[in-house]
Order: sequence, then C-alpha cells, then structure tokens
Amino acid sequence: MRLQGKVALVTGASSGIGAAVAQRFAAEGAHVCVNYRPASDRDRQAAESAVAAYPTPGIAFQADVTRREDVDAMVAATVKAFGRLDIAVANAGIEIKRPFLEATDDEWARVIGVNLFGGYATAQAAARQMVAQGGGGRIVFMSSVHEDIPFPGYTSYCASKGGIRMLMRNIAIELAPHGITANDIAPGAIATPINQSVLDDPESMRNAVSEIPLGRFGRPDEVASVAVFLASDEAAYVTGSTYYVDGGLTQQVTMY
Ligand code: NAD
Repeated sequence: MRLQGKVALVTGASSGIGAAVAQRFAAEGAHVCVNYRPASDRDRQAAESAVAAYPTPGIAFQADVTRREDVDAMVAATVKAFGRLDIAVANAGIEIKRPFLEATDDEWARVIGVNLFGGYATAQAAARQMVAQGGGGRIVFMSSVHEDIPFPGYTSYCASKGGIRMLMRNIAIELAPHGITANDIAPGAIATPINQSVLDDPESMRNAVSEIPLGRFGRPDEVASVAVFLASDEAAYVTGSTYYVDGGLTQQVTMY
C-alpha cells in the first residue's frame, strides 16, 4: 500500500484517466475525493458508484474547475471529510478541434478555462491547504505530449498544456521550501472518451497507431501507475519534471 492513510483529490475523475488514477489511489490505501463536473447525471453516477466500490472511504464531489468557488469548496469538503489533503491531481481537461483561422473566442476561453485555469486553481487551493497544515504534499498535473509537440487544429489545447508545463515548473520552485512537489504527466494517445471519435474510426486509428512505436493506444491504468509513483513517498526527490507516458510517440512524431 503505497499511499496508505494519504488524502487525495482528483479532478475530472468520473471517466478516463482521472477515474483510473482515483481508483488506483484508493487501492493503494488513499482516501480520495473524486471530482465530477456539474450538469451531467452520468458523471455524478459514475463518480458515486466508483467511490462506493473503493476499498477505502472516499467522497464524490461536484465542482466545475473553471469556478474558483467550486474548487475551494472541493478542497474544503475533502479536508472536512478526511482532516487534510496530501495529494492533488489536476486532471480535468477538454479539447476542441478547430483550424486556427476559424477558432472562436468562446472556444478558446472554454479550453483555457478548464485546462489551464482549472489546473492553476486546483493547484493553488490544494497548495494553500498543504502549506497551512504542514508536512508537504504532491501536486500532479495531467498535461499532454502537446505541452511540447504542436498539434494542428488544436491550438487552444496545445496552448493550455504548454501553459500547464510552465505553471508546473514555476510552482515546483515556489513550493519546494514547503516540501510540496509538482510534476506533469504527459500522456500520448490513451483510450478514453476524449478520443472517442478516433477510437470509433478504423482509418484514424490506423494513422494514430502508426505514429506510436509500441504500436497501440495506452490504457488509463498505465497512466495511473505513474501517478501513483509521483504521489508516493518514493517520489520525494522528484519535482519540476514531465513524465511521458506515450508508447514512444514523442520520439518519432510526425503527427496523426
Ligand atoms: P475524459 O474526457 O474521459 O476526461 C476528462 C474529464 O474532465 C471528464 O471526466 C470531464 O467530465 C472532466 N471535466 C471537463 N470539464 C470539467 C470541468 N469544468 N470541471 C470538472 N471536470 C471537468 O478524457 P481523458 O483522456 O481521461 O482526459 C483526462 C486528462 O488527460 C485531460 O486533461 C486530457 O487533456 C489529458 N490527456 C488525455 C490524453 C488521451 O489520449 N486520452 C492524452 C493526453 C492528455
């Protein structure tokens, strides 16, 4: 049990990578706050039934990470339930495909709002709690290979993830005196709902897989393994780093 007695929150944890991270944290002995976004009964049900199946008590909490008051309430609810907060995973994310010349301000604001502001607000609210309680902490951002690699048609997404990379590197320095580490996980192509249109289209799948040296999409649990490591005591000396979980994609990318 690598996270025995730790208290964690994971944003956007009702599906995909976030759900796998929350589940693995609970299996490793952590109490987990499983965040899901408002306005979706399916997300609420998924979060609540996941928590009910964990071996360790957890909570499901509705919060929109683009809203500061929701993020603060999520941290407060976690602390109320379990007394402290040791680990925060800023995982919630969206993408909108649109050629740059056609992109709208609304689309830009939505993607930057969830991915970049959401990551900032989650990390800040969590770090404030960690500093107040003492004893250090772990902040993990679910970034993307697109924190570094361009992806035509997804400019707002790439800008948001590039922003997360610099946010992470900066706060790794600012929070180090408090014993709080900050790191990115940069997944490549992982089989989750965010990629449903590619997963459903055999030709898109062939093109995507042809870019991946390991020859397949990754699974959410393969990302969760790295999150467990970064959240654990074993990663005490790791901060300011990006961990790629991409089957080698970044080594030979031409871009699918
Ligand atoms: P997903 O769509 O299953 O997960 C995204 C989650 O974010 C969903 O549960 C969604 O409800 C939640 N969310 C969206 N807006 C929110 C908001 N305003 N407040 C709270 N939650 C909100 O897809 P995923 O692949 O599991 O994505 C998780 C993260 O991994 C994202 O940040 C994504 O950018 C990143 N990522 C995914 C891949 C991939 O190939 N799947 C690759 C690189 C990075």
